[in-house]
Amino acid sequence: MKLIFKILAFLIAIVIIFLVGFFTGKSNRSYQIDSVAEKLKRKVTTPISDAVQLSGRKLVLLENPELISRIMEGGSFGNENFSIAAAQNMFSKDEDAIEDIIDKIEIHKVAPRIWFIRMPIVNCTLIETDEGLVLIDTGMKPSGPALLKAIRSVSNKPIHTIIYTHGHVDHCYGTWSLIEAGEQPQIIAHKNIINRFNRYIMLRGSIAKYMSQPEDQLPEDSADIVWPTRYFQEQLTLNIGGVEFQLKHYKGETDDQLFVWLPEQKIVLAADYYQGFLPNAGNGKRVQRDVKEWIKALKAMIELQPEMMIPSHGELVRGQQQVQENLLVLAEALEYIFTHSIKGLNAGLRKDQIYQSIELPAHLESHPILEEKYVTAKDISKMIIRQYTGWWDDIPSHWSPAPLESQSEKIVELAGGIDGLVAFSRELSGVDLTLASHFTDWAYYADPENPEVQQLVLEIYRRRILSDESVTQEMLVYLDHMAAVRERMR
Ligand SMILES: [Zn+2]
Repeated sequence: MKLIFKILAFLIAIVIIFLVGFFTGKSNRSYQIDSVAEKLKRKVTTPISDAVQLSGRKLVLLENPELISRIMEGGSFGNENFSIAAAQNMFSKDEDAIEDIIDKIEIHKVAPRIWFIRMPIVNCTLIETDEGLVLIDTGMKPSGPALLKAIRSVSNKPIHTIIYTHGHVDHCYGTWSLIEAGEQPQIIAHKNIINRFNRYIMLRGSIAKYMSQPEDQLPEDSADIVWPTRYFQEQLTLNIGGVEFQLKHYKGETDDQLFVWLPEQKIVLAADYYQGFLPNAGNGKRVQRDVKEWIKALKAMIELQPEMMIPSHGELVRGQQQVQENLLVLAEALEYIFTHSIKGLNAGLRKDQIYQSIELPAHLESHPILEEKYVTAKDISKMIIRQYTGWWDDIPSHWSPAPLESQSEKIVELAGGIDGLVAFSRELSGVDLTLASHFTDWAYYADPENPEVQQLVLEIYRRRILSDESVTQEMLVYLDHMAAVRERMR
């Protein structure tokens, strides 16, 4: 029995690693499963009869272990020193998470008086000046103590300034630990971070759901957040202890994002504008991204001709030529998707025709930094369309639709009954799995308690996850649906 649970815990541990999205975009970056250590402890002492109490998600993974390796393929976000405990507790001071990050944090000197700090999921940058230290981002909440320890391993100077590149949880929630240790930095961010933080408080339950974090860990009121002490609108130049910092704001993954340019060192701290793969610009679970301004940010960086780029996720990029190439192809790809989408809107095409018809040119499609891992070019097009138009999808009956359940019942009737629809979906799935998914959904919304339908759903979405066409965020949608159905099957 113990062995079974140990295997189970191992499988869960592996999959969690790859379920963490950006969060925060990144986001999406995570998946709610209780602490693996706790689980393991509980399970080894649980009688076998209680095994049925495992969540739907865990049952799905236990019964379909091949899904784990598939999700693993697409789910890496560049920082290999991953922490399961941290990913599950991004908004909390969870002790396991804190200890795990202390264990895994790395600090590397990358230029004179400049250190690249790599933590699970996210990076920070530390710059020493004659007046004190400047810290770019502070990681997620459990990162605080590890960050302080890493900083103190290279410098004893006071922390003079903290810059938040944007308000996502993995970028600015570790500050509390530095303040508790007696540091009194000025904290600088873009003005839009105020609305963002207030929105997090207002939408606590919704954000917990879409980020798969425990709701009780999310900020409840403004006292739960370490707020900036100074805001700016478009650009801000700071001179701190002989070092110049240029802060430049462009909307992109968020509406409060900025990158930092160090003109003397020719280093750009690229925040989340550059992610090392086709970026999180088409997130189906998060708020609006601004692709047009994202492109502007990339072009502004290109113009600066950096000799090193330090992104907030993944590996840093060295050498002017390499930095230029990476920024140029990313800008070109986003521009291609943007232009395609806007042209389609202006041509009066139906929205689905616009994103369905997008295909990146071969030199972009095959470029290693544009890999479709988390979202697709089509997803980014959907996000652009959403930004510039209303909620209607151009299909007349969808303006004031009948309830989905009623539509589904009539489809069942047309198919000659639920068994007919299940058989039809299954047969169609051999020819066109995507098309078969629609009929599977209709079967499910018509008769969610039917065991044949439940089996069909598990089968079809298992295959969707395994399909080469699927990217991580999409796989997680299917996995969640399978889990919900599996729960019903108890
Ligand atoms: Zn990020």
